[in-house]
Amino acid sequence: GSENLIKSLETEIKAKGLDKEVKVVRTGCFGLCEEGPNMIIYPEGVFYSHVKVTDVPEIVEEHLYKGRIVKRLLYKEIVEGDVTKSLNDTPFYKKQMRIALRNCGVIDPENIEEYIAMDGYRALGKALTEMKPADVIDVVLRSGLRGRGGAGFPTGMKWKFAAASPGPKKYVCCNADEGDPGAFMDRSVLEGDPHAVIEAMIIAGYAIGSDEGYIYVRAEYPIAVKRLNTAIKQAKEYGLLGKDIFGTGFNFDLNIRLGAGAFVCGEETALMTSIEGHRGEPRSRPPFPAVKGLFGKPTILNNVETFANVAQIILNGPEWFSAIGTEKSKGTKVFALGGKITNTGLVEIPMGTTLREIVEDIGGGVPNGKKFKAAQTGGPSGGCIPAQHFDTPIDYDNLIAIGSMMGSGGLIVMDEDTCMVDIAKFFLQFTVDESCGKCAPCRLGIRKLLDILEKITSGNGEMEDLDRLEELCVHIKNTALCGLGQTAPNPVLSTLRYFRDEYVAHVRDKR
Ligand code: SF4
Repeated sequence: GSENLIKSLETEIKAKGLDKEVKVVRTGCFGLCEEGPNMIIYPEGVFYSHVKVTDVPEIVEEHLYKGRIVKRLLYKEIVEGDVTKSLNDTPFYKKQMRIALRNCGVIDPENIEEYIAMDGYRALGKALTEMKPADVIDVVLRSGLRGRGGAGFPTGMKWKFAAASPGPKKYVCCNADEGDPGAFMDRSVLEGDPHAVIEAMIIAGYAIGSDEGYIYVRAEYPIAVKRLNTAIKQAKEYGLLGKDIFGTGFNFDLNIRLGAGAFVCGEETALMTSIEGHRGEPRSRPPFPAVKGLFGKPTILNNVETFANVAQIILNGPEWFSAIGTEKSKGTKVFALGGKITNTGLVEIPMGTTLREIVEDIGGGVPNGKKFKAAQTGGPSGGCIPAQHFDTPIDYDNLIAIGSMMGSGGLIVMDEDTCMVDIAKFFLQFTVDESCGKCAPCRLGIRKLLDILEKITSGNGEMEDLDRLEELCVHIKNTALCGLGQTAPNPVLSTLRYFRDEYVAHVRDKR
C-alpha cells in the first residue's frame, strides 16, 4: 500500500501549501514488515505504523500543519507520553545491530548524496588513497568476515586467492540471485542501500586487481534492479565508478545481469556460466573461481550481505568488526523472520544471539497462544532446529552442529500444529523442481526421496522406508556435483533426527 500512500501524502501536502517545507522520501525496508506500511516523520522521529490512505488527511492536518502527534497511529511499542522514545529501545530493535542494513529505511536509495551523507564512498576513498591492495585484503581477513550467502567461507581468503592468481583480467561478481523460499535479505539491501554493494565491489576490485564487475540479480526483483541501475549511473556521474576513480588512475566498471529465476544459478559456478550466456549449470571444481572463474579468468563472488559489510570494516577497522559475534563467526547476520511469528520482518543480530532471543524478544513469539515447535534456517539447504536448541547461540558452526546451516538467512518459525514431514516434503519438492539435472544423484536421488516421503504421508509407508530415506540422503550428500544436491537432503535428515516420531506416526496411522 505504500505507493498509494506516497501519492496521497504528496497531494495532501501540496493542497495544504506545505510542499516547500515537507518532503516525502521513499526509503527501503525498515525491517518491521508486520507493522507496514509505516512512516517516520522527522525531525521528531515519530514512527507511525499500519498507515492507510484514509489516515493521510489527519496526519497532514494534525501532525504536519498543527504539530500534534496522531497517537492512534503510533507504533504500539512506543508508549504514550514517551512518543519520541527511540525505536532502538523497542523490543523489535533493542537486540539488533544494523551494519549491513545500516541505511535501509533511513536514506533515499535513489539519491547518492544521501548515501554520501552517511559516510558513503569514504571507505573507497580511504582504500584507494591510503591503503595498498594487500592492506585491504589484510583488513578484510583480520575482520573475520565470512560469506553471508550460506557456506561461510572467509571473504578475505577468497580475495587473497584471487589477488594471487596471475593475469591482467579478473572479475568481481555479486550474487544477488536470492532464491530461498522465505528469504528477502538481499532484496532489502539492494532496494534500500544499493550504493553499499557498489562501493564494496569497487573496493574488492582494487584489492584483487580487477577492473570489471557483474551483479547477477533476480529479474523478479524489479525495484532492486531499477535502484541498482540508478545507483550505478549516479556513481559514474560522481566519478566514483568508471575511469580514474578519485583521480588515482584506478578503473572499475560494473554490469548488471538478470537471472531468469533458476535457483541453481545461485550456485557460484552456475551463476558464472549463466553470465557467460550459457544454460546455468554448475561446473565441477577445481579449478576454483579464484583461479579460473568468469570467462575463464580469476574471479571472486560474494553475496549482497557480505559486500554490505565491507565499507564499514574498512572505515572502522578489523578489530571493531571482529569484536562483534562469536569466536569463529564475526559480525552480524541478517535474517528474514517469517512463518508463525508475531513480528514478521527483517532483522540483523550480532552472531551469537540465541534463537530464543530472535523468536521471543525480537519476533514477539509465536502468535495465538501456540507453542514454538521448530525454526527452519538455511532454506532448502538447511534444517529444522527444535525447541531443545532454543538457547543455542546462532553462528555458522553451532548451526551445522545441530543439523542445520546458516544459509543465506531465511528463518521460518513453526508452531505446534506444523507437520514436520510436510515441511521436509515442501523443501524437497522445491529442490526437485529446481535441480538442473546435470548429475544423477541429484536428478534421480532427490526425486526418489520425494517419492518415499509421498508414500509415507499418503499412509502407505513402511518402517523400512525411514532407513531407506537416511541411506539415500547420505549417498546424495556425498556424490552430488554441487551444493544444491549436496544439501538437498538436509531438511529430511534434520526432521528425521528431531521429529522421527512424526514419521513413525504417519507409518503407524496406516495400520
Ligand atoms: Fe544440477 Fe543437482 Fe547436480 Fe547440482 S547437484 S549439478 S543442481 S543435478
